[in-house]
Amino acid sequence: MDLHELTIKQASDLLAQKKISSLELTQALLDRIEALDQTIASFITLDPDDALAQAQKADDIIAAGENTPFTGVPIALKDVLCTNGIRTTCASKILENFVPRYDATVVSKLKQEHAVIIGKTNMDEFAMGSSTENSALMVTANPWNTAHVPGGSSGGSAAAVAARFCCGALGTDTGGSIRQPASHCGVVGLKPTYGRVSRFGLVSYGSSLDQIGPIVRDVEDAALMMNLICGHDPKDSTCSDRKVPDFTKALVNPSLKGMKAGIPREYQSMEGVDPEVSAVFKNAVKTLEGLGVETVEVGLPHSEYVVAAYYIIAPCEASANLARFDGVRYGFRAKGQDDLISMYKQTKSKGFGPEVQRRIIIGTYALSAGYYDAYYGRASQVRTLIMEDFSRAFEQCDIILSPVAPTPAFKIGENVDDPLTMYLSDIFTLSANMASVPGISVPAGFSASGLPIGFQMMGARFDEMSLLKAGFALEQALDLKPKFPEIKE
Ligand code: GLN
Repeated sequence: MDLHELTIKQASDLLAQKKISSLELTQALLDRIEALDQTIASFITLDPDDALAQAQKADDIIAAGENTPFTGVPIALKDVLCTNGIRTTCASKILENFVPRYDATVVSKLKQEHAVIIGKTNMDEFAMGSSTENSALMVTANPWNTAHVPGGSSGGSAAAVAARFCCGALGTDTGGSIRQPASHCGVVGLKPTYGRVSRFGLVSYGSSLDQIGPIVRDVEDAALMMNLICGHDPKDSTCSDRKVPDFTKALVNPSLKGMKAGIPREYQSMEGVDPEVSAVFKNAVKTLEGLGVETVEVGLPHSEYVVAAYYIIAPCEASANLARFDGVRYGFRAKGQDDLISMYKQTKSKGFGPEVQRRIIIGTYALSAGYYDAYYGRASQVRTLIMEDFSRAFEQCDIILSPVAPTPAFKIGENVDDPLTMYLSDIFTLSANMASVPGISVPAGFSASGLPIGFQMMGARFDEMSLLKAGFALEQALDLKPKFPEIKE
């Protein structure tokens, strides 16, 4: 097996057995990135010398017998996670040269174990988008077909994992940004329950929706990454102090006897779902049934309002969060302005891309006096109804099944001028964020043209265990091949 094919678990085991060194693994990945990332464009920032220095340090730790599961394992980070001393751009011009002075909690956790931070990955600007085309810095290609988008907003992380530029990556998910790119790139993505993972050091988009989670090659790696990143953090008051289980326990028994899976009635009549996506979905359901899962129909009656409510709540929160980027405190400042108001105006007009400006304007409008109750207030009430739908559904089942996205990855440029189509493509992923529940995307098939198609499972709050258990069993049963895309230089 080539070094670049190793999963987190495989790399970790070989490193611990001293069969490979972190230095050679990191070098192999850096060589591959150098050869192929011109085609994929998944990384915004790479510092090969620093990565190799981290690898050397990890090898020393292993030699001293002080290694833990992530020691020496190269991991990529979405460029929305603050890294001390390494530029963190959020793929925005406004932060193009911003170098944080501290690490996000998830980054500290990786560093504590001496993982190798191999680079920072491309994304939609401030995580707003579903294709990574809203990046102000570069356009990432899908490794399975470079004419197609990798999905978004964590498209750089998903593409880097699929292209085997790293053993695994972290992404963030406000409305699907871990699960949807994972689905489009044929890898596993898990959005944990809101509050499971500290958001400290994550540049906020929608604070009541954002979660950090793994984008990895298989379900076992997702469990390992969850073991590392979950848990209480005094630096994030929304981070739960609930006990974190050992997620790898989900992988011991592949039988799913006794598990109940709900299929939402409303999703079955949903328009615009590609027949190939439906076929993959049905096959995954049948496979789960073959593993002992009992399927039941459940109702999520407010599903038709999810997109509308999300696209009020997320822009409202974004408009508040992004107010801090004003040219005074962070990053880019427009030059040549002689009064404060024009400096603000020019900084924001030049620093933020069109989608981010659109969201700030929608959010500011919806929160303004006289409109607040009609928009934000109303959308929050709808959100409560969506949460209640999920609570009721989980009285009847352990997991809820759905497609991840209505279509396989679309072509680069196909939807850029049509924000509404882009928003509507989030229909299946937004609910998990609105209801604060966890969701996983696992590869489940391919389109006739060879694009990967994922399958989504959502769980009750804090029940990532059921998702990992079902995901692991499904992954074994589906045994999808080919697992890797051929990337042409
Ligand atoms: N596509 C959604 C949006 O643009 C979700 C993005 C995300 O999860 N960060 O808001």
